[in-house]
Amino acid sequence: MKHLVMVIEDEEALALLLKYNLEKEGYDVQIESRGSRALAEIEKNCPSVILLDWMLPEMSGVEICKLIRSKPDIKNIPVIMMTAKGEEEDKIKGLSSGADDYVTKPFSVPELMARVKANLRRAPEPVQEKELSFEDIKMDLAEKKVFRGDSYVHLGPTEFRLLKTLMETPGKVFSREYLLKTVWGDNIYVESRTVDVHIRRLRKSLNEFGPDYIRTVRATGYSIDTHNIEEI
Ligand code: CA
Repeated sequence: MKHLVMVIEDEEALALLLKYNLEKEGYDVQIESRGSRALAEIEKNCPSVILLDWMLPEMSGVEICKLIRSKPDIKNIPVIMMTAKGEEEDKIKGLSSGADDYVTKPFSVPELMARVKANLRRAPEPVQEKELSFEDIKMDLAEKKVFRGDSYVHLGPTEFRLLKTLMETPGKVFSREYLLKTVWGDNIYVESRTVDVHIRRLRKSLNEFGPDYIRTVRATGYSIDTHNIEEI
């Protein structure tokens, strides 16, 4: 099976150059130019290595790297940060954000290919959780199915992603903005009220089979929790 390398780079010419060379080395390559969409794609396709540009529109490489490291199912994927020449401070920030390696632009292609190879070798197999569970709720991530006890819960794709985000860290309160970013990606036309609409749908489907564990924290956001204190 071919390794997938994800290139997150907004400079098209450079992205294409990388794609060409990585494919020549026998990798599958996916190019993304925007952070929020890239994050959703990383979760979906679980690449073996990520080449991440430091300067990107919307979300910086550092922010993206931090988000990658905060998500249990993708946090072990090696990240190679690409920084502009001379930005020594960037390197330090990049590494403290959790990047495994960095290269300085302009880099030599053979050097970068060697780094990719080294990171693939050194990397542990990405820990891809197959199942998330909270109380009687189980998510089969491979099959994209949700069960409560023995009952199958039908959820739309957005509700599924919402529930997945909540269930990755039970008890943690997620803001509407965070949920918008991670669940909807870079669709800037989505209003934060949309989150409420989908939470309502999620609750309706889930609560048919058991108690309401989704907690609304006024003026803050949502979590999944057994202490359902503030219901709307
Ligand atoms: Ca850039």
